[in-house]
Amino acid sequence: MSDVRVRFAPSPTGYLHVGGARTALFNWLWARRTGGKFLLRIEDTDQQRSTPEAVEAILVGMKWLGMEPNEPIVYQMARHQEHKELCLELIERGAAYADFSDPAVEAAKRETLQAEKKQYKFDGSAYRNVPLAEQKVRMAAEPGQYAIRLRIPDSGATSWKDVVHGEIVVNHSELDDFIILRRDGSPIYNLAVVSDDHFQRVTLILRGDDHISNTPKQILIYQAMGWDVPQFGHLPMILGPDKVKLSKRHGATAVGDYGDMGLLPEAMINFLALLGWSPGDDTEVMSQEELIKRFALERIMPKAAVFDLQKLFWLNGQHIGKSEPAFLFEKCGGVNAFHRELDDTVTTAIYLWKTRVRKLDELVTAAKVVWEDPVEFEAEGVKKQFSDAKVYERMTNLSDAFSELTEFTHESTEGVLRQLVEAETAATGEKVAAGKYIHPCRLLLTGRTVGPGLFELVVAIGRDACIRRLRKRITN
Ligand code: GLU
Repeated sequence: MSDVRVRFAPSPTGYLHVGGARTALFNWLWARRTGGKFLLRIEDTDQQRSTPEAVEAILVGMKWLGMEPNEPIVYQMARHQEHKELCLELIERGAAYADFSDPAVEAAKRETLQAEKKQYKFDGSAYRNVPLAEQKVRMAAEPGQYAIRLRIPDSGATSWKDVVHGEIVVNHSELDDFIILRRDGSPIYNLAVVSDDHFQRVTLILRGDDHISNTPKQILIYQAMGWDVPQFGHLPMILGPDKVKLSKRHGATAVGDYGDMGLLPEAMINFLALLGWSPGDDTEVMSQEELIKRFALERIMPKAAVFDLQKLFWLNGQHIGKSEPAFLFEKCGGVNAFHRELDDTVTTAIYLWKTRVRKLDELVTAAKVVWEDPVEFEAEGVKKQFSDAKVYERMTNLSDAFSELTEFTHESTEGVLRQLVEAETAATGEKVAAGKYIHPCRLLLTGRTVGPGLFELVVAIGRDACIRRLRKRITN
């Protein structure tokens, strides 16, 4: 057991996307690596944009990836009261103050400055030094007329040793007294997140680097409360292949949708782990156990990661190739997908094809050819292999030879094919290539030009089906 406590804190405003899943995974891996706890907090305080469907989508996505939290989920909205109390406590401590300025006036100031391309900074001089007792009287007298702001120290800087980026220093002169509680009484993200992370006793916050600018503000709240400041690490941005921030137009859909696209969660996890992390050598294909064993914070790279869909499919092919047929049978959808039980034929078919496909649906289609006669034949292959007038004679001869075999094995079937090649060579006086039999045979048996070794396939398909398929006429 370790005291590491990490969390994933998504805002439920949409599905679980690649960036979110990567953040969740790095936290989950670190918890598994250290024997710590992985927590989940749903940051649903933005009631306009949060939906129960999005919460569900996030949970489904995480479940598909096998990342379950170790403690009950915390819903941020349920801690609304605590967030408000924290704001008041910060006022008591002199770390925050009530701001009675007119929001419309401030908005106008901001607009004017923006038009002049200047930065707006809130000037709190009229409120930040008002004695506490006086503030309280006015707060009681004018409810709903004030926001609460954190008082940023006049000088100095806030720094932290980011586990990804190293030392980061932010001068206080760059920050303004930011709002922690809006006039309508709703706490702001930077306040709620500190309250919740403290409540959940989080020791390390790993999140996207779009949050770097929030971190000094959050550290100042911890310090004002005299709370232990957790460690922070900001994960690199994920870019599309065109080096622009990853978005839907790159084909990055909900993580769970990749399951429908024929991906194994194992491959997705492997792929996500490599988005900004490397094991330190060339290893790319890793099981979940290996990832857990090798995951190290030091090897999270600060440089943006590039999302490469082709690599995801390649990794998926690698994971499919390494998996057992029974496991793949289930993952593909079982009887529903294969239209038969996991018998010897199905097991053999999966064995034959699993190292040759990149997606689960491809595996199903390919494996089925063992027990279902092909109805489609690769056009290019047909053109190439069936232009020779003698091809059907050869296939009929092969079919006849198969029917006469006492044992239908790899050796015996290959043996008769080779005999036919030799006999034709002898009869015509011209060297006949074995391919003249092998290629059309493969096409008639499977509809394809490439695949597993022909005689393994022949045996798996079985004598009767082979004979039937070899007699099929697919041209003219
Ligand atoms: N809810 C925030 C988001 O979805 C994350 C907050 C955090 O990790 O601190 O971007």
